[in-house]
Amino acid sequence: MDRPFPFRRPPMPTDYDPNNIFAKILRGELPCHKVFEDDVALAFMDIMPRADGHTLVIPKTPARNLIDIAPDTLGELMKRVQHVAKGVQKAMAAEGLTIQQFNESAGGQVVFHIHFHILPRWEGVRLRPHTGEMAPKETLQEQAARIRAALA
Ligand code: AMP
Repeated sequence: MDRPFPFRRPPMPTDYDPNNIFAKILRGELPCHKVFEDDVALAFMDIMPRADGHTLVIPKTPARNLIDIAPDTLGELMKRVQHVAKGVQKAMAAEGLTIQQFNESAGGQVVFHIHFHILPRWEGVRLRPHTGEMAPKETLQEQAARIRAALA
């Protein structure tokens, strides 16, 4: 839909909510199926995977999304995204990878702590729709163990 200029909506927010779900995971207040952690980043299984082995990589530094993250932090984070992506590819015997990152609701973002999706891909296999259904714990545990082993 075309909107007249100046647009009525405010610019993209940059305020960080310390009670978002990933901040709680970082503080250990909520569990996750961890595959990687260092001083910069944490990587864990997406609880509602759109592909087998769907993994998320988040920085330990609070940032809402690509707009407010410090460039140096983003640079360090991307090194971890690449590292974890290689492990996911190997563990899942993926033929390809899709990397996704969403910004604000209008851009598809649901959790407002910046994260990169690593989605293993195979020829002819579509991404599953986001149904809101959680994967079985055992499945996520088994895939996380495989990815951790590939990263070791
Ligand atoms: P988005 O903000 O659109 O990039 O999506 C957030 C992603 O986080 C979705 O793929 C969810 O399935 C995933 N997610 C939400 N809560 C959790 C959680 N507690 N543990 C792991 N993944 C989660």
